[in-house]
Amino acid sequence: MKRFLTILILLSSVSLFAQSAGNECQTAKVRAFKQMKSMGKLYYPGDQNIDVTYYKLDLNISYSPQQITGAVTIDAKSLEDNLTSVFYDLQNALTVDSVVAPSGRLTFTHSGNKINLTLDRAYNIGELFEVVVYYHGVPGSSGFGSFEFSSHSGHPIIWTLSEPYGASDWFPGKDSPADKVDSCDVIVTAADNFYTVSNGVLISEVDNGDGTKTFHWKEHHPIAQYLISLALTNYAEYDNYYVVGQDSMIVRHFNYPENLNSTREARLNKTVGMLEYYHDIYGLYPYFDEKYGHAEFGWSGGMEHQTCTSIGAYGETIIAHELAHQWFGDKVTCATWHDIWLNEGFATYTEALWLGHVYGEGAYDDRIASYMSTAKYAYGPIYVQDISNVNSIFNYARSYAKGAVVIHMLRGIVGDSTFFNILQSYLNDPRYAYNSATTDQFAAVASAVSGTDLTYFFDEWIYGENYPKYRVEFKRVFSDSNYYAIVTLIQNTNTNPRFFTMPVQLKITTEQGDTLVTVFNDAVNQSFLIEVNSYPLSVEMDPNNLILKDILGTTDVEDETLPAEFTLSQNYPNPFNPTTKINYALPKDEFVTLKVFNILGEEVAKLVEGRVTAGSHSVEFDASNLSSGTYIYRLTAGKFVSTKKMILLK
Ligand SMILES: [Zn+2]
Repeated sequence: MKRFLTILILLSSVSLFAQSAGNECQTAKVRAFKQMKSMGKLYYPGDQNIDVTYYKLDLNISYSPQQITGAVTIDAKSLEDNLTSVFYDLQNALTVDSVVAPSGRLTFTHSGNKINLTLDRAYNIGELFEVVVYYHGVPGSSGFGSFEFSSHSGHPIIWTLSEPYGASDWFPGKDSPADKVDSCDVIVTAADNFYTVSNGVLISEVDNGDGTKTFHWKEHHPIAQYLISLALTNYAEYDNYYVVGQDSMIVRHFNYPENLNSTREARLNKTVGMLEYYHDIYGLYPYFDEKYGHAEFGWSGGMEHQTCTSIGAYGETIIAHELAHQWFGDKVTCATWHDIWLNEGFATYTEALWLGHVYGEGAYDDRIASYMSTAKYAYGPIYVQDISNVNSIFNYARSYAKGAVVIHMLRGIVGDSTFFNILQSYLNDPRYAYNSATTDQFAAVASAVSGTDLTYFFDEWIYGENYPKYRVEFKRVFSDSNYYAIVTLIQNTNTNPRFFTMPVQLKITTEQGDTLVTVFNDAVNQSFLIEVNSYPLSVEMDPNNLILKDILGTTDVEDETLPAEFTLSQNYPNPFNPTTKINYALPKDEFVTLKVFNILGEEVAKLVEGRVTAGSHSVEFDASNLSSGTYIYRLTAGKFVSTKKMILLK
């Protein structure tokens, strides 16, 4: 889903919100939420004892008076033995007339927006049962307008937008994105001036001869309850065809007749190019055996209803966004509204990919830069904490812009080919394809495909909050023949995570050209020694803008000339009691050992063992536990070996 609005309005409200809340409690909250999540407590689960498998919506819709009369068939499987009662979600505003099983009427109560049913017998695990709910009334309107009666240029229109919780405003079922039905039928009877558009393919259009028409649509693929949609008005159709090999699919755009013009057609025509491009990067359009299309509706944005986006704004990026949702959102659906970034982050990211594909890499970079500046206003973790609030779930800075930036950063870490492998593996994984997935499940795919444990990345960017702010220090170290840059990255401390662990690209500009290296920054204050081939002039952190960050400043630290040769100096003081200092110098990085022996040649102390950077170094030797006498210390650094004597006098 995407709302067409000015981001400025949104940003000012977000930043006010950010200022008014403390960070300390957020950290604790995130921990609590992660814990609750691991216990499975945060889903809005619907009835957890059943798996719904099929809906048939048979609806009579009257525009004047505004009312619906419905017979909704629900098939479900028991997930428990001895199941004798279930509940379905339906808002109290609608009146349930009866609930009927094949064996007869069932007893029920309807309160708390739930229909509680007593089944006709006990059902065991895996057993299927079917009920038909007969109901009528005026559907409620929640969220972004779950069921609306409105008009365009004097013509009546009826449309739905159920995400996230609005489906139960107009039909009964299990209102949880994780439990898709295997297929559904949508049959609508309305006045014959309405053309009804819904999911899947049109099975029949019947003129009832009494001033009404009945449209029967069927979605053959699994579908989440919130993606089932209706749009009814006096549509004018406009078609494209999407061809793959010998096959083709219709792309049908249902427009208000008064709005269809050549400009709009030119924009809608881009849909086919998008289908082709997304096929290349994400795999074949998931509903190729059905259709894709747009149905104009009364909300100034778009909503990715399965196989038929409802749309009220016709910009190129909104068309690109909603189509991307057919893969990210419809084919693989976020399992809970906490995980909404799996829908919105990917659809938003795909806008940038599309722009890059059509207008060049600079257009991709510009779009990402724009997401980054918005993402800096994101308040709290991307993993949505308050899913009772629609505006919290669909917060643009957080679920959309920062979600997209996280995906861009993942691409930066794993590289292009692995990145697209991750996405295709996720979309085609039999556990998630035409089903749902959680953040942790996506993260597990990303780690498995990349062969790298990326838990740190998702923990800090999805469950953590804010973004890193770096200071960069740059120091040149050189001799006649060796040149090094020492780059120190210092992060401002954050709350959760305390600092950000990330691979960081550093571009060192030298007298003879640029060197690009990637260092793994996993400390709040960390130095990296980079060998270059000539005198280093400057450093640029993250030159390809792969990280959401602020760079607070880059400081040049005084040059240091490297020693011309290896040296081991006489200790000082000497004789000593009980400590003394030993200095040595390295013209380049070496693996160094510095050991102390007694006059019998027995090792009594190991002062250095490991890789040491070029430069002058000093080590203190504490001989408190040794007795008076002569000792020998030996430095090895690569091929260089040097030995000296010292005297301990107690
Ligand atoms: Zn969206």
